[in-house]
Amino acid sequence: MKLEVVAQKLGLSFEHGVPSGQIRGYNYDVVNVSIDTFVKVPMMTFVFERTLTKEETKTIQKAVGMQQIRIESVGLNNNAVIIMFRHGIKNSDKHQAFLEKIADAFKELGLKSLNHCPFCGNEDTDSIRVIKGSVIKVHDACAKSFYQELTARVEEEEKSNDNMGKSLVFAVLGAVVGMIPTFVSIVFFQYMFALLYALIPLASFYGYKYGKAPKKSWVPIAVSVISLILVLALHFWLYNAIAVEEGVTLSYAMGIEEFSSAFYSDLMTSLLFLAIGIWISWRQMYKQTTGAIKKSFSGLNK
Ligand SMILES: [Zn+2]
Repeated sequence: MKLEVVAQKLGLSFEHGVPSGQIRGYNYDVVNVSIDTFVKVPMMTFVFERTLTKEETKTIQKAVGMQQIRIESVGLNNNAVIIMFRHGIKNSDKHQAFLEKIADAFKELGLKSLNHCPFCGNEDTDSIRVIKGSVIKVHDACAKSFYQELTARVEEEEKSNDNMGKSLVFAVLGAVVGMIPTFVSIVFFQYMFALLYALIPLASFYGYKYGKAPKKSWVPIAVSVISLILVLALHFWLYNAIAVEEGVTLSYAMGIEEFSSAFYSDLMTSLLFLAIGIWISWRQMYKQTTGAIKKSFSGLNK
């Protein structure tokens, strides 16, 4: 949904392209939040002057009655909560009561909205930046130098190849581990689940991360390729095992029409499911890469 429309529906102010409101002294901005690779949903972001502890996050979670709320870093580390619109995007009594419940929970925890420059801590701010969709008061000089330091660090990381070999080995091992659920479901239950295929690139990515090499922009592609090779290997191994069980070679079995048509239709299903798996896990991987980090802070450099 367009944020302009959201602002209109909720009767919020709309400056810097962001719908902003206030409830009992707590500021919030409406931000389009990705829920998967392609779908974005408007949600409320409350930004605080300090980091939230795990216990505080749980308390807020209970207060708003949601399974999960998202924690975001806006200028400071883990200092913001993202909360869904529980009663639709309209200015109803229910929505208002929900907002007050949220504000009560914040007050109880002694939280305060961020009202100073997050980079130096002073209140005499002279500029505005939109950081991860939220309007933040900053010093122009602080925001610029933070962005320069961040991009310098990220670019350094992009140039480095430290731990690359180790990370790639762990990426392969991760993919093997991630393939276990798929392997078990095929071999023991003769069934393929698309969702399980998402674990292969994800586990591979976390393997790569474990190896501590820089998370360059191409890493999601590399783990997708590793996953593809392993899924193909599993497929050939399975059909080879079936052929051997029947006492023939794979190439002989492929001459039998029934066998080869099963071979190709299973291959197609595997590839389709892996594609779905990569699609599901792509955002989770991409947002951790250096390219995505640089992009998410680009609003600081204006
Ligand atoms: Zn400052």
